[in-house]
Amino acid sequence: MQVLVLGAGVVGTTTAYFLAEAGHRVTVIDREPAPARETSFANGGQISACHAKPWAGPGVPWQAFKWMFAPDAPLLMKPLRWDPSLWRWGLQFLANCTTERARVNMDRTLRVALYSRAVLKALRQHTNIQYAQELRGILHIYRTTESFAEGRATGAMLAQLGLPQDVMTRAECIAVEPALRDAPHLAGGLMSPDDESGDAHLFTEQLAGLARKLGVNFHFGETVQTLERERGCISGVVTDRTRYTPDAVVLCLGTHSPTFVKPLGITLPIYPAKGYSISIEIEQPDAAPHVSITDETKYLVFTRLGNRLRVAGTAELAGWDMRLDPRRVAPLVASAQELFPRASSYRDLNAWSGLRPTTPDSVPVLGATPYDNLFLNTGHGTLGWTMACGSGKAIADLISGRTPEIDLNGLGLDRFGGGR
Ligand SMILES: Cc1cc2nc3c(=O)[nH]c(=O)nc-3n(C[C@H](O)[C@H](O)[C@H](O)COP(=O)(O)OP(=O)(O)OC[C@H]3O[C@@H](n4cnc5c(N)ncnc54)[C@H](O)[C@@H]3O)c2cc1C
Repeated sequence: MQVLVLGAGVVGTTTAYFLAEAGHRVTVIDREPAPARETSFANGGQISACHAKPWAGPGVPWQAFKWMFAPDAPLLMKPLRWDPSLWRWGLQFLANCTTERARVNMDRTLRVALYSRAVLKALRQHTNIQYAQELRGILHIYRTTESFAEGRATGAMLAQLGLPQDVMTRAECIAVEPALRDAPHLAGGLMSPDDESGDAHLFTEQLAGLARKLGVNFHFGETVQTLERERGCISGVVTDRTRYTPDAVVLCLGTHSPTFVKPLGITLPIYPAKGYSISIEIEQPDAAPHVSITDETKYLVFTRLGNRLRVAGTAELAGWDMRLDPRRVAPLVASAQELFPRASSYRDLNAWSGLRPTTPDSVPVLGATPYDNLFLNTGHGTLGWTMACGSGKAIADLISGRTPEIDLNGLGLDRFGGGR
């Protein structure tokens, strides 16, 4: 089958790789000059099934309301913007802020994340792909006893759903990651020993190389313009260069996905949640962490990628504005200096912003559509790197007529009232 994959972020590239492995003729189109140049470029680097807790949950609306007045808040919503798609998304988000919905959404995300971690592991063994990976788990740290208690409650839910974590004292956290010895206010931690980390951009570049060897054609610097339909199928994909008539199309355009299916009558509730990262040159290797850390009190992640320390976090629901706001970069620098004061002089740091393709329930949108040959693999939000391998493999299996190794129920468009 001739398959066209739209988007060469981490999600599109894994999809293309697994489709080619299944024997399809695959072409990938991306407007950027190379893979993973948009949201997959400088993310937090975590393969974190342990982050399956959705954003929407009980108590979140009130917390988000209070944060609206703090420019450096970890989650900043600007609902007064003239943006009906944000209001619609916000209403669906509110509908997911119950204990029951949070549990269902956590279960769905965890299903994809755990599968994806296993697929990534198998891929690594099969190809020996290298991407500054660290296989030492993810340690969640808590600065206050209150946040530690909340973390343990979430940990208990994750354990019930299939992801056990180890509860650790301050001393045990430091034993696991000695670079934390200078950290003030460390109340305790939760360790997810089977989670991992690595450079998503490097991974995507390397995987694109492996995909090329399987025959995948990448067309970079080419912009998708419209999807044409005819009798319940996608009959053509028009770009700024040509028109394609593939047998099947997979939409992996991240935050831009909704624009291309709206004229087809499909409403995809994906809204950009802007996040920031900084990448710092490590000057004292023993003072920087090897274990990827999540600071659960400040909502930030710290991941070592070779000789750099990546610090990432914050979320801002404010449209497609990519500007770097110094007020939102500052908390990342301050937290890194506080936790790892000797790791770097913190003079040279590369700041970056990216738009997470976020759904109101924090679950990606995977699978079939009302159009026979159009498939979705998008809306991975905060966990696109974590879920890319599993969702790419599942979609490749679906297109190949094989039963995906995970149940796709509850992951598709139908949960928003669309799809089949
Ligand atoms: C600050 C931050 C930290 C994060 N940390 C983590 C983490 O630690 N772990 C984790 O799992 N996830 C993390 N994420 C989330 C993760 O990065 C995303 O979910 C993931 O990158 C989404 O991948 P994607 O391929 O769907 O989108 P993208 O990488 O954005 O890819 C979409 C592609 O579509 C292309 N495109 C768009 N429009 C067109 C068009 N018209 N024509 C042609 N091409 C087009 C773009 O060029 C782009 O390459 C983080 C995100 C941010 C912002």
